[in-house]
Amino acid sequence: MAAKELFKCLTREQIIDFFKFPVEGSQNKKADMVEKAIKILNDNPQVLISLYEKFAKELAFSPYECEQLLGCTTTERRRWTNDGKLKVVEYQTINKYGRTITYPMFERGCLEALSLEIMDQWRVEHEQDLKVKRIEAQQKAKISRKQNEELRKQFAMEWKQTVASWYKQGDLAQAASFELAYWTMWLSRWAKEHHRKSRTAIKHSREYVDMEQKFYSMKNEGIKILYKTQYGKLSFYRPVEPDKWHVTFCPEHFDDFKDWRKNCGLDKWGYFFQNQKWIKNCKDCVVEIEKDYYSLYYLEVNSPVIPEYRFSFHTPFPIAQLFFPSPENLPRVNHKEQKDGLFRFGRNILTEEKIIYKEKEVVEKWQDAYMKLNLFIEAEATN
Ligand SMILES: [Zn+2]
Repeated sequence: MAAKELFKCLTREQIIDFFKFPVEGSQNKKADMVEKAIKILNDNPQVLISLYEKFAKELAFSPYECEQLLGCTTTERRRWTNDGKLKVVEYQTINKYGRTITYPMFERGCLEALSLEIMDQWRVEHEQDLKVKRIEAQQKAKISRKQNEELRKQFAMEWKQTVASWYKQGDLAQAASFELAYWTMWLSRWAKEHHRKSRTAIKHSREYVDMEQKFYSMKNEGIKILYKTQYGKLSFYRPVEPDKWHVTFCPEHFDDFKDWRKNCGLDKWGYFFQNQKWIKNCKDCVVEIEKDYYSLYYLEVNSPVIPEYRFSFHTPFPIAQLFFPSPENLPRVNHKEQKDGLFRFGRNILTEEKIIYKEKEVVEKWQDAYMKLNLFIEAEATN
């Protein structure tokens, strides 16, 4: 049934032209013409089709009108459009919120011809599609779980052989030290991973901070005890600018700084180091120095008997000064010399490593190794 609504989208001239109404009657009111047109359309459905064809753009439905007419959700309307089930006449654009939004305009005839039965059929088919996809995903996960399990088994076997070869050499304290160093390294990598997540996570970032701290404090316990063995060699790295400065200008120096910034383009630190003689002596400026804030303790665990493994751990001075000796008596290291190898620098844990070195397992293995080495150290102390 053709309705009056239809003709709201068309001009008088378009109606006259399409229905070939006599031009001399064109002074007639639009309402009278619409009445006449509706009668023609109801008597000749064929004409309605060609009307829709000729004025496809003028008569097209917007996305909102489409959803109202069909009684479907926005998600359904989008899905059916992507599937090509709803015929799009053209895409229009609007500018909103500084963005250009493109949206489809739907063919009127196609939407009006859609029955509830057809749409229900589409909904049933979609549900079945989802079910199939879910089953496929489950099967895929099952396979990769199996593969991961294989990987872990294989690694566990190789690791057992490695550790056995260390203990077979007869130096049990050395073997225990290497075991602990190994798991401390993985703890440290997990700590870095938690640190990364705590900064990128939208949810639970507090939990990642807690995990990071827990792992770093375990790592510190590890290097503390490794330092007590004869395989742990401690040195100190002091960068070119090891200290952290905290400077707050008084109002007067702040004004002065603003002048310098305007005239010379100096930033806060440029201004401070240019004028530090005065600022340090100013009663109202605050200058604090954290000595060796950027310096690092560097613990290396190695042995000529096990040349294929060597471990190194960096710890910031402010943390490690609590349990390591004063740096003045330690050998110095130069970072530039140490670009080689996996075991040299701390890094994040890689995705594939997370499969083998599961967090929970790393913690358990570390605890075992820690207890073992602790026993050797206590036994040595009582001898
Ligand atoms: Zn001042």
